Parts: sequence; structure tokens; C-alpha cells
Amino acid sequence: MTSNVSQNYPYSSESDADRAATVARLVTERDDLAGTLAAESTPLDARDRWWTWKCPTAGCPGLLHAAGYASDKHAVFVVCDGTCAKTFLR
Ligand SMILES: [Zn+2]
Repeated sequence: MTSNVSQNYPYSSESDADRAATVARLVTERDDLAGTLAAESTPLDARDRWWTWKCPTAGCPGLLHAAGYASDKHAVFVVCDGTCAKTFLR
């Protein structure tokens, strides 16, 4: 196993419009995602751009997109757009 420390660094960034469109698409594709976001995150504030991260799941080619703040606000709640379909905190 290789260290995944580097994967905590942002991979790229995206416009807020792109981010919102991706998250909206994922919410429609995944039955449980809207509920998860409602239960575990709060809405993001207005920014022009957001970081994206490479998904840390082995074999998953996805990127992580900001979907909200974790309920304690110390982390960003992110959603993978790839095959693992997991959520993470960044
Ligand atoms: Zn993934």
C-alpha cells in the first residue's frame, strides 16, 4: 500500500457552477445522497471556485466535489463522482 497523505492535497479546482451541476447530478443518480447531505452537512457559502480532490478509494477514478460543510464546519463534505460513490471529509 502506498501512503495516501498526498491525496489530501487538492487535485484541481472547478467553478461553483460546475460544482453545483455535478453535485446536483449525483444527487439525482444516487438514492441516498440527498438524505446523507441533509443529515451530515450544511450548505456551502458563496465562492467562485472550489477545490476538487482525487478519490482515495483504490481503483476508483473519481474526483471529490464539495457538496457542503460537515456539520461541525471543520471540514468540507465531499462526494465522489466515480464508481465508489462514497462521501468523505476534506
Ligand atoms: Zn470514488
